[in-house]
Parts: sequence; structure tokens; C-alpha cells
Amino acid sequence: MSNILNCCTLCPRECRTDRENSSGICGGGFLPRAAKAYLHMWEEPCISGTRGSGTVFFSGCSLKCCFCQNYKISAENFGKEISVHRLSEIFLELQDMGAHNINLVSPTHYVPQIISALDKCRDRLHIPVAYNSGGYEKTETLELLRGYVDIFMPDIKYFSPELSEKYSSAPDYFEYASRAVSKMIGLAGKPEMDENGIMKKGVIIRHMVLPSHRRDSEAVLREINRLFDKESFLLSLMSQYTPFYKSSEHKEINRRISTYEYEKVAELAAGLGFKGYMQERSSAKEEYTPDFDLIGIDK
Ligand code: SF4
Repeated sequence: MSNILNCCTLCPRECRTDRENSSGICGGGFLPRAAKAYLHMWEEPCISGTRGSGTVFFSGCSLKCCFCQNYKISAENFGKEISVHRLSEIFLELQDMGAHNINLVSPTHYVPQIISALDKCRDRLHIPVAYNSGGYEKTETLELLRGYVDIFMPDIKYFSPELSEKYSSAPDYFEYASRAVSKMIGLAGKPEMDENGIMKKGVIIRHMVLPSHRRDSEAVLREINRLFDKESFLLSLMSQYTPFYKSSEHKEINRRISTYEYEKVAELAAGLGFKGYMQERSSAKEEYTPDFDLIGIDK
């Protein structure tokens, strides 16, 4: 673990930080840092099920989205450093609480520590592990997760390099995200559910429609349709965008999306024949964004 972290190139930023002595662009240091661990009821039905998804929110992020819905932890790095041993205990505690799965949110910059934690509890952890990320990933880092992760839930946020540069400081976003999804499909295989409709393995591609940018959402959907076999993933089309954090610096995204914008994108998704989930516009609530309060992190 320490070799990778002493000159970190885990994510496309490749900032080569020695994380034993300082933090990378993502905010990640040597030990994992997390802000909350609890049973999350607001993921897709096949993930949250009836008992909830055992979600661990990691602090920091290598993407720099100005509208981040979790900006307190991603941009402001709120959270607490924990040992790898404590992280493995958290996984088991979530399982004991009845979680359908372990849901790792913003895990990219902590992949080596997560693998070490999973190694510690592998013989006792019997629920699927889900990797829930912004999609800005290197395939080499994803390869490290072979055999550890069952479900991938990547975003594909943008197609346009201009938009990904403007809002996330990542002009190469789509290039990385599309290659990452292809790799994730290779690692997880086709979606599989258990007898209760809870996901056992597979990929859910998530796309949140941004205000004023439905054309880019449509371009994302067309590219997904062109690049990936429709049987190899589920699509989750989300409408819960709320103008948080630095959205106010960009007038065009400083509002909720309209019903018209969402419906046009949803119509295209339906027309392309994707399987998955479309969120009711009326169900877009702030509950999707939990309070970050270290619940489940401290012993
Ligand atoms: S994961 Fe963090 S430290 Fe590593 S390359 Fe990316 S931004 Fe830098």
C-alpha cells in the first residue's frame, strides 16, 4: 500500500504526492478519512432495498465539481481519519445492521486502504461491495479492485470537455469516464439481482441532468448507447440537482432543472431502450444529501 501512496498516481490527476507526508489534490492522506457510515435509503431500489445500503462516505475527491451535492466532505474534506482496521470494523458493523451491501462513496483516492480493509474482513463479510464514484478513474486503479468489488455505480457527468473543464476542472473527464465504465463492465459482468430484486453484481451508470445543459445530457446518452451493450449495465437518470456550493458563480446552473428539461432527456433514454431507473421529478428532495456528522465512524 505504501509504495502507491508515496508517489500517488491513483487517479487521472496523477499529482505524485507523497501521501505519507502530505495530502494530494483530492485531499487524501495516508489513512482513510470518512464522514459518515449508515444505512442509506435513497439509492436506487436495487441498492437500498428495504433495509438500506451500508454506505461509507469518504472525505475528499479528485474531481472538483463546483456544484457538488456533497461539497462539505468532497471539497471541504470534512471527516475523520481512521485506521484500516477501523474501516474493516465499519464494514462489518453495517453488515450487522442489516445492510444489503457495502456502498463506498468517493472511494477512488482510498482504493489501497479499502483493499487492505476488505482483506481484513473478507472471511466475515458476505454482502456485495459497491464502488460509487464520480467516474473520473484510471483503469489501472480499477484493476486493483478485481475480486473485491461486485457492483460499480459510476457517474457519467458530461460529454463536453468544455463543460467538464468549466465545472469540474477536468477537460479529459469523458475520455476517462467512458474507459472506466468499459473496465467496470469487464470486472463486474452483466447486472444480476437476487430473488428480492437486490443487486448482486453489475454496473449502474448514473447521470444527473444539469440545468441549461440538456443537450449535453442527450450527448452522454447517445455516447453510452454507442459504446456499451445495453444488456451490460443499468442506467439511473437523476433529477435531484440542487444548486449547492459554487453553483451561484455560474448563472446557468444556479437553479433546479425544469420538468421540461428532465422529460426531454428521459424521453431520449426511453427511446434508446435503456434499462434502469428514472427518478420522478417530484421526488427530487434534499434528503438525497445527508447530514455529515461522523455517525458510524467513531466507535
Ligand atoms: S488520488 Fe489524490 S493524491 Fe492520488 S493522484 Fe489523485 S489527486 Fe493525487
